[in-house]
Amino acid sequence: DPRLKAISEAIRVVPHFPKPGIMFQDITTLLLDHTAFKDTVDIFVDRYRDMGISVVAGVEARGFMFGPSIALAIGAKFVPLRKPRKLPGEVISESYVLEYGKDCLEMHVGAVQPGERALVIDDLVATGGTLSAAIRLLERAGAHVVECACVVGLREVKGQHGLNGKPLYILVEPR
Ligand code: 5GP
Repeated sequence: DPRLKAISEAIRVVPHFPKPGIMFQDITTLLLDHTAFKDTVDIFVDRYRDMGISVVAGVEARGFMFGPSIALAIGAKFVPLRKPRKLPGEVISESYVLEYGKDCLEMHVGAVQPGERALVIDDLVATGGTLSAAIRLLERAGAHVVECACVVGLREVKGQHGLNGKPLYILVEPR
């Protein structure tokens, strides 16, 4: 797909952020480029519009920047998966391990009904720990996770490792 090169080039790489040695993939510059941003959303929409998806679940915070546009275009609802203590209603929680320490994602009880078909969206997958927690939340609510989708991902995770066997769709490799 010829659009992928421009999408990749619109992502800024910030060395040593947030810590020394990390090459941070900054998707905010992709959002500044109307064509690249629209192409990103369009590629996901074309892929998912006929898959019977009723829920797009976005991971805080950068999954919120792509998920709602995709949800609106494919006729699905959007469900935010949030960091702890942000959602006001009753929640279910799933924790996951980070390089240093632990984090947690929460989802509102009742946001997703048993049997719904879900797509999980985030900006980037590294170890897959975050997406795995998202998958567990949706499955606890009785949803079927059709696929996880990210703008950026490492080739190693592409082979579904750590994603409970769920397929992973990635647009570009980190730069
Ligand atoms: P994982 O759980 O797969 O190891 O890490 C993925 C999570 O960390 C995602 O929610 C993603 O937003 C964030 N993340 C890790 N590294 C980067 C990066 O270089 N750029 C961006 N934009 N997000 C990152």
